[in-house]
Amino acid sequence: MRVELMEIPSDPLDLIWRAYRQCCSSQFALELEEVSSEEKERFVKEMVKRGHHSPLEHVKFTFAIEGISRACSHQLVRHRIASYSQQSQRYVDMSEFEYVVPPVIAEIPEASKEFERVIGEIKKGCRVLKRILAERGIVGEKANEDIRFLLPNATTTKIIVTMNCRELLHFFSLRLCKRAQWEIRKLAEKMLEKCKEVLPAVFDEAGPRCKILGYCPECKRNCSKKYLQISQ
Ligand SMILES: Cc1cc2nc3c(=O)[nH]c(=O)nc-3n(C[C@H](O)[C@H](O)[C@H](O)COP(=O)(O)OP(=O)(O)OC[C@H]3O[C@@H](n4cnc5c(N)ncnc54)[C@H](O)[C@@H]3O)c2cc1C
Repeated sequence: MRVELMEIPSDPLDLIWRAYRQCCSSQFALELEEVSSEEKERFVKEMVKRGHHSPLEHVKFTFAIEGISRACSHQLVRHRIASYSQQSQRYVDMSEFEYVVPPVIAEIPEASKEFERVIGEIKKGCRVLKRILAERGIVGEKANEDIRFLLPNATTTKIIVTMNCRELLHFFSLRLCKRAQWEIRKLAEKMLEKCKEVLPAVFDEAGPRCKILGYCPECKRNCSKKYLQISQ
């Protein structure tokens, strides 16, 4: 799995600081009295902690992601306050697809062998279908769009995702939870790492809901899957 931060505003902290300050200042956002970046950081951190999150919507982060499975990307794109551009299985020939092997399956020789066998059968099926369709003049995207019906959820994909900082905090609160599926949790961990590097004032305290609320909203108590255990 590869996660890169492709695009961020030139000074995200300043933008968020101005948005917060505009709410409580008589001055115009671009003419506010300048303060140090430490002061901006302190102020923004405090506002985020208070739950005043709408100013965070002004800053958007764009990630380029590759090597995740379609099982993972399907969960990702359920987050609606975001923009996506995903590699097409019509325009790209996927008959020799790459795939993700879940770690638990990879660790069990018997399971891994069966997994690889089925993947091999699917690839063989893709090749045979491709040949049969080509013999009838059905090639390129017309062939790909039907051959892809054989592809497994394990097939890897490439996707560009843009989310604003408020949506990112929401995404992290759901997907960093130990109850979330391992692959999207790993993706969320990698995205949070990048976010913390460029905007610690907003993301240093980000985490699953149990970290924010102090309890697990799913089991209503201190659940055994709580945050401190996720960062192995
Ligand atoms: C552990 C886990 C298990 C899951 N299991 C399943 C499952 O079995 N089946 C399944 O279908 N999904 C499942 N999901 C996906 C889940 O139902 C959501 O679709 C997904 O997490 C996106 O979250 P969201 O809707 O909160 O947020 P986003 O789409 O990211 O939106 C952010 C917030 O904006 C608001 N919002 C967005 N759109 C609307 C709207 N149309 N109307 C009102 N408010 C809106 C909501 O407050 C929402 O929380 C699971 C998610 C998790 C984390």
